[in-house]
Amino acid sequence: MDDSKSCIFCRIGRGQAEASVVYNDALVTAFLDVHPVATGHVLVVPKVHASGLAALDPESGARMFAVGRRLALVLRGVRGADGVNLHLADGEAAGQTVFHAHLHVIPRTVGDGFGLRLPHGPRPTPDRAALEATAEQLRGALAESVEA
Ligand code: AMP
Ligand code: ZN
Repeated sequence: MDDSKSCIFCRIGRGQAEASVVYNDALVTAFLDVHPVATGHVLVVPKVHASGLAALDPESGARMFAVGRRLALVLRGVRGADGVNLHLADGEAAGQTVFHAHLHVIPRTVGDGFGLRLPHGPRPTPDRAALEATAEQLRGALAESVEA
């Protein structure tokens, strides 16, 4: 089945569904989230259908981040944001609800009161040996991985 026929973000990328577009190029479209966390909350969405990061080609992924960065600067400038969160949910366990990869660009204001931050509660403090063991595993896997 061609997922892109029914996928709302593919349809927006092709101009076949309504969206308030703020940026468009050959690789990505950026448009306002219809349920914004804050005014100016933008989604940067690759044109190609990829349900998550594993399926996303590196060039589209790089453009998605580059455009997210530019939007973050614009949100600080023109909308006076005090800060910006970039958020990407990859997989259901991470909170992804639309299964076409996308980057959220969310303007933040001091005291805006919402909790888009890493947990502040008790977090473990692994010793250096434990950190190194994990780093070693990731170094090995990275060395063997090839850019898809
Ligand atoms: P996520 O939960 O990270 O997968 O984010 C999906 C986001 O897409 C949510 O913030 C939704 O509000 C947003 N969304 C869903 N449908 C549309 C749409 N048609 N246009 C704009 N934003 C949408
Ligand atoms: Zn899609």
